Amino acid sequence: MFLSCVYSLLADSLWRVRILSHTTAAVKPRAVLSTASFPGIEYLVDKDYNSPDMKNLPPTLIDRFQRRVDYVRLSVTDRCDFRCVYCMAEEMTFIPKPEVLTLEELYQVGRAFTELGVTKIRLTGGEPLIRPNVISLIEQLGQLNGLDELVITTNGSQLQRLAPRLREAGVKRLNISLDTLHSRKFRSLTRHGNLDQVIAGIDAAIETGFDGIKINAVILKGRNEDEAVDLVSFARDRKIDLSFIEEMPLGLIDDHDRKLSFCSSDELLQDIQRVYPLTSLGEPSGNAGPTRYFSMADSTSRIGFISPHSNNFCHLCNRVRVTVEGQLLLCLGNEHSVDLRCILRDENYSLDLLKRAIVDAMQIKPEKHHFDNEGQTEILRFMNMTGG
Ligand code: SAM
Ligand code: SF4
Repeated sequence: MFLSCVYSLLADSLWRVRILSHTTAAVKPRAVLSTASFPGIEYLVDKDYNSPDMKNLPPTLIDRFQRRVDYVRLSVTDRCDFRCVYCMAEEMTFIPKPEVLTLEELYQVGRAFTELGVTKIRLTGGEPLIRPNVISLIEQLGQLNGLDELVITTNGSQLQRLAPRLREAGVKRLNISLDTLHSRKFRSLTRHGNLDQVIAGIDAAIETGFDGIKINAVILKGRNEDEAVDLVSFARDRKIDLSFIEEMPLGLIDDHDRKLSFCSSDELLQDIQRVYPLTSLGEPSGNAGPTRYFSMADSTSRIGFISPHSNNFCHLCNRVRVTVEGQLLLCLGNEHSVDLRCILRDENYSLDLLKRAIVDAMQIKPEKHHFDNEGQTEILRFMNMTGG
């Protein structure tokens, strides 16, 4: 059988690692570089892919650190109608269309993961809701056996139009990005966005009635750090949740210096506490994700803080990401990845081959990220590629 898509290894001078995949069944995969710095990779390199074990696929995904992966973020497009200053450069080059996974390929990826015990899929991007026919993909994913939660992260621009259809298709919860309540500031942070349209989208989603709606706000010093309390009031008024996110150094941007604009979760927490006393709902644990949540005595809204710099919860990580090119990213802050697209496009494609590659990829999931605003940006991939 002509089987492409096994693994070889390549690392560049920045020590960004990528597991590439092209060989034939006749060629046993081998390392082209020492694996000493990346424990675990040897496993893939040594594995005999001439006879990949298709029969004994495990029911769940477990990595080398005994973390169970039951959550996948699937990027359905790298394109977006906004150009948020922390996420993208003003001029972006997007992936050529033929390299983008088709809706059917995205479905196959979702199916493979759920058959391996994944219970939650988040569709993201880019802006997932601007991908043509995305609703048909959502409808298909919504029917996957074993999937408990189909959720979406969106900038809200299309929600007035699509909220009811998303609900009907099986989407349970929405994360909607909103960093400021001032129109001009909104335009300057998103470069193209219209605040009224997004707020109308949030209200349309509330009216539609999802199980949960959460606002995501990235806070930058000198831009919107004075709005933390107002954003909390906005969420309280609408009885929805809100999370503040520390900016992550993904992609080379020229709008601002990430070191200077960094605003820690603890600073925001103090500002908010002066107006709304917050009670901790406990440190993240189990598979709850990295958000630290707080409650308020007089409101149902929860306030969360995602603090990749000041609080590292990598030991709880239960997730992986798939880019719209079909790269399975094992960690947001590292380049360890496996190319699923070449498996999907191989003439001998089977769902089991895809599942086998996903199972084996667990062996290179890094222990933790090392975000650093001090030096050069190490992860050159923009957030819209990563699937935030
Ligand atoms: N377009 C959708 C949206 O904006 O919600 C989904 C994709 S966006 C990449 C997902 C989330 O990542 C958004 O909440 C956005 O604010 C966040 N984000 C983007 N770039 C970021 C960065 N450099 N650091 C932290 N969060 C970022
Ligand atoms: Fe688009 Fe979302 Fe990135 Fe903003 S954060 S540019 S809305 S993908």
